[in-house]
Amino acid sequence: MSNIVAEIKEEMEVIFQELSDIEAVGVSTVEARVSAAAGSWAQRLSEAVLSEAASSEAASPLSVPCPSCQGHSHRYRFRARNFTTACGVVRVSRWAYKCRCGHIHVPWEARQDLRGQYTRRVSATMMRLAAQLNYRAAASELKHHGIQVSHTTLHQKVLAWSEGEEVSTYADEEPLDTGSRWYVSCDGCHTNSPAGWKEVKVGSVSKDYPYTHATSVLKVRPGSPRYVASVTPAADFGKHLSDLATQTGIYQDEKTMDTEEVVVIGDGAAWIWNLADEHFPGATEIVDYMHAKRHLYDVAKQALGEDARDTVETWVNATETPLYNGETAQVIARIRDLETQNPTIGDVLEREVGYFQKHSDRMQYETFNEKGYQIGSGVIESACKHVVAERCKQAGMRWSKPGINAILFWRCLLKNDTWDTYWDTQEKQAA
Ligand SMILES: [Zn+2]
Repeated sequence: MSNIVAEIKEEMEVIFQELSDIEAVGVSTVEARVSAAAGSWAQRLSEAVLSEAASSEAASPLSVPCPSCQGHSHRYRFRARNFTTACGVVRVSRWAYKCRCGHIHVPWEARQDLRGQYTRRVSATMMRLAAQLNYRAAASELKHHGIQVSHTTLHQKVLAWSEGEEVSTYADEEPLDTGSRWYVSCDGCHTNSPAGWKEVKVGSVSKDYPYTHATSVLKVRPGSPRYVASVTPAADFGKHLSDLATQTGIYQDEKTMDTEEVVVIGDGAAWIWNLADEHFPGATEIVDYMHAKRHLYDVAKQALGEDARDTVETWVNATETPLYNGETAQVIARIRDLETQNPTIGDVLEREVGYFQKHSDRMQYETFNEKGYQIGSGVIESACKHVVAERCKQAGMRWSKPGINAILFWRCLLKNDTWDTYWDTQEKQAA
């Protein structure tokens, strides 16, 4: 130990002298020389301190209780192992103990805050980069930061370390301010898997303030949205989203439950509205206006032809007014008009009629607007892009279900600003 300190001191003096001897030494020269040496000092100092601590009598008594049978286990083998730390790879010799029951364990290692051979801090850096970059790019970036890990190992760690974790566990409560409302939105977006397209379900919980459209005061002040995203059956996803909502602050107090305003926004997908019925009873339900309008375009293009742009545009514009006013019956009448002109695609158009009939109550846009509700699910549409697509829809990517869910767990922690909460929890568990 004292040797290392003396060696490092000597190296410091040598470097100091060398650099001082260069006339008008520049910042780059100093930076290169000192940072290279500092890396080596950090590694050697850590290794020396840890080796001494791990082999001390206090850390390694002759016998310790066996964690398996509670009997006595005895010193068995003294072996070195490499650990990847933020100070570099550190080689530490420590005692393994063996019990008469056959159990072998390494108590010194069990007491450390380690995930396999990685420290918590290194693990967090690995996950943070893998959440943002494809595995090869992340591994290369980690190498740049002095962490050697192959892209395949990184992939395995992403899976292993997120196993059994739920995004909602780490969300902090965010109480409603006076006059604000909760918004819950859902959407699906497609990613590629070896078996074809798979739907990632994305949900967000955010609070917002009434949008006073009439006075044209721009008052869109979305609270920090929380996200949950995974490839999972609707019933499980509903549970995850509901947990996230409760953890964030929705329906926490039975006394205020009835006065809390919750708005659910989604497209026409049935799973969204089943989920809303089950987990957010009494919420105001709104079919995203842009989705509804897209249906009008689909109808018009089918009936009038893709190429008849002007006619399509005229029909949509004329139909948008009753749509906005909540006069769904008129919208339906206009679709049925098209049907009489195109009996061959009657089935297709009847499906669209069904869509507007089914969601009529969720399409009272004028009324919603007067009450200051958002009528578009902008938050969730952008979430599909920045939570999912940015990382998971790069060229050539094909995801297994566990693979994409693991990455989405880490990404949601990042996007929800709960990254530190998660890693702090890990520290407490280890302590
Ligand atoms: Zn035992």
